[in-house]
Amino acid sequence: MKVKRQKQVKKCLNFYKNNFKFRAPFQVLVDSTFCHEALQSRVNLSEQIPLYLSDPKVKLCTTPCVITETEGLGHKVYGAMRIVKQFKVWKCGHEKDTVISAEKCILSLIGNNNPDNLIVATTDSQLIHKCRLIPGVPVMLLRYKAIILEKPSKVSLKAAQNKMKSATEVPAAEKALLEKMMPVEEETPIKKKRKAKNQNPLSCKKQKTELNPPTSQTSTGETKAKKKRLKKKAKRNALLSKSEKN
Ligand SMILES: [Zn+2]
Repeated sequence: MKVKRQKQVKKCLNFYKNNFKFRAPFQVLVDSTFCHEALQSRVNLSEQIPLYLSDPKVKLCTTPCVITETEGLGHKVYGAMRIVKQFKVWKCGHEKDTVISAEKCILSLIGNNNPDNLIVATTDSQLIHKCRLIPGVPVMLLRYKAIILEKPSKVSLKAAQNKMKSATEVPAAEKALLEKMMPVEEETPIKKKRKAKNQNPLSCKKQKTELNPPTSQTSTGETKAKKKRLKKKAKRNALLSKSEKN
């Protein structure tokens, strides 16, 4: 078996193992169409399926309804009937009088969620289509004389995605309980820090001058008055000296 093919089947099986609890030994439910195709392609199912799935203990089975339907088709499918009769008979619960078609029988075993983790081996296009619509149903096909496990259907991928989503989400009841158990923190008043206002540097300068008026201004005021006084004194002295001379 080619490495690429081996990797593909391993990846596919891992998907069903991780998302739908499939475990080895796997169970493959084979119908007469698959046996007929295998005969035409000269594929020995009892040898090739265990090799393909890397599972030597894989269980190949069929149902009484599949056998009855194949028998009813007569000698045309004699070879397929002989192959299908080699497999283990899965008790489907349909009594001899209530035997149904192979397709209906297989679908009834799968139900809505494939509880027995069956891999359906068929070449019946109608059955393949119906299996793709049920989450967690691997379909085994025969293409170009080789066994192929079909990639998971969109429905299976979506179901796996939803499972993953719900697994990571905390249930509402659990969430409420967790919230109850959480210690209640006492509310402490938050002290507001006074934010330093971005003062205008010019206004700061003005404020500073108001608080400590520059001495120079005072001195100039003082000197002005002093000068005025001295000038007055000088004028008076001049007048006095003038009168004295006279
Ligand atoms: Zn049945």
